[in-house]
Formats: sequence, C-alpha cells, structure tokens
Amino acid sequence: MTLGRVFICPRCKVASNSGCIGSSSEPNLDIFGNHAVRCPSASGGPRTEFWHDPLVLMWERLARFAGYKVGHEARNLVLSAPGLRADFFIPEINMIVDLRTAVTCDKQLCVKAATAPGAAAEAGIADKESKWKAHVDAQGDVFLAIVHEDGGRLSDTAKDLLHRFARHFGISPTDQSMFMSYGLQRLHAISQKGVARLSRALRPVPSGAAHIPSPSLRFGAPIRRPAGSALARMGPPLSSQPLWKTAAISRLSTRPVVVQPLAVPPAAPSPALVAAVALLENVAA
Ligand SMILES: [Zn+2]
Repeated sequence: MTLGRVFICPRCKVASNSGCIGSSSEPNLDIFGNHAVRCPSASGGPRTEFWHDPLVLMWERLARFAGYKVGHEARNLVLSAPGLRADFFIPEINMIVDLRTAVTCDKQLCVKAATAPGAAAEAGIADKESKWKAHVDAQGDVFLAIVHEDGGRLSDTAKDLLHRFARHFGISPTDQSMFMSYGLQRLHAISQKGVARLSRALRPVPSGAAHIPSPSLRFGAPIRRPAGSALARMGPPLSSQPLWKTAAISRLSTRPVVVQPLAVPPAAPSPALVAAVALLENVAA
C-alpha cells in the first residue's frame, strides 16, 4: 500500500508502520476506509458531519412524511439529566430517539461481529440505553436507540421504528409497503454515502515530502459529471464502426449522427529514405 513510504491518518496521526490491530493481520492504518470509520479522532468531526447527521435528518424527514411532528435536538427533554440532548423527539408518542453509527471492525467488537450479524448494532444500543433509558423511563417517556452499522445493517429497533412510521403513514398494505421501500432505500443510500465521504475525508497522507494527491491514495471514485452534460459515448467512434451499425444508431438516435471519415496523416519520408534518394541522384549525375 505505501510503496515504501510512511502514511499517516490526518486526524489521529497513526502511522502506516505502526503495526496491526491487536493480534490480527489487519494494519492499524489502511487506504480502504477501515481505519477511517473507526478513527478515534473522527467522532464528533467528519464521522458526525458526513455519516451521523445526514441520517438523523433523513429519519426526521421520514417521521414527518409519516405524519408525525418532530423536534430536532431539543434540549432539556430529560428532567434528571438536562445535559442529555437527543437527536430527535416525537411528541405524539412521547418518544426520545437517539441515533448511533456503529463500526463492525471496532477493536472490541470485530471478532463477535464477524460471526454474529448485528453484534455492533446491539452493542451500540446497550451503550445508548445505559446512558439514557433509566432517566427517560423515570419521567414516563419512551427512549429508543437506533443504530446504523457501517456495512448498512439496521438495528432491530430502527426497523421497528420504520414499521411504526409505515403504519402511521397509511392503513393499506400497499401504502405501508411503499413507505418501507422508500425509507429503507433512502436510509441505506445515505448511510453508504456517509461512509464513503468519511473514508475520503480521512484518506492517509504521506508523512514526508510527496506529491499530493498520489495515485496510490485515490479510491477510484469517478469525477462528478457536470449537471446537464450528456454521458460520454462508450465504445469505438462511429467512423470506425461498420456502416450497418452506424445506420442503426442514427435511426434510433434523436440527434443526427455525422460520420466523419478517418483522417489519414500525410506520410513523411524517413531521413534514411531521403539520404538514399540523394545518393542515387548523385550516382546518376
Ligand atoms: Zn485516524
């Protein structure tokens, strides 16, 4: 990965030559985003900005779409712990919801998460509930922790909440099914986009003098296509395609297809040939 150079994480400054995670063969720092999602210094920074916050906004949007009123990051909801600030609150059902993003390759969870699907989500729920549940239960409200794993998996609590939204959205199975499809697709897309943006934001940088960005650091993400421009035509140019294919494309296309003849560059005589001709002319003279 490093091509003989040392790379460091721009947030926590861990270096690529700092060994592996625990006793595994996984390096502490990699370029594929494994470190980016579990970087201890990204929490509260890019991890929140790119991954957590867009998910919270999407959940709030889904709640409103289902017909609920939503309070965003309301303060002083918990009487016995005013410092706790939930991601959102649904007054109609007295539900305080806090969202967590969980990493399956976390040092403490990796072995369990590799064999038990949802282990990271369950650990995230346990962590949130230990902080919130007793306080919220004591005042008669409902606390719900919802978790998104980095691979896209939703916690059971999140699926239950989405089903609840769907039932509130419509009575008919068709309405509910439509809501579930929409919600699951939107949440998954936003979660995966967040993980990708986080990985790009925390890509390792060379520790010494180097040309940045290095090709070895690129993740192969395509450059964004300018809005409104046409997609590039794939395959060989029309001029090198057989006539029958060009005719078929021009018949199906809404735009006129202009076939340009292949341009043949003028042949330039080689220096050796020029010298040989000059020699022959000299001999003839
Ligand atoms: Zn880091």
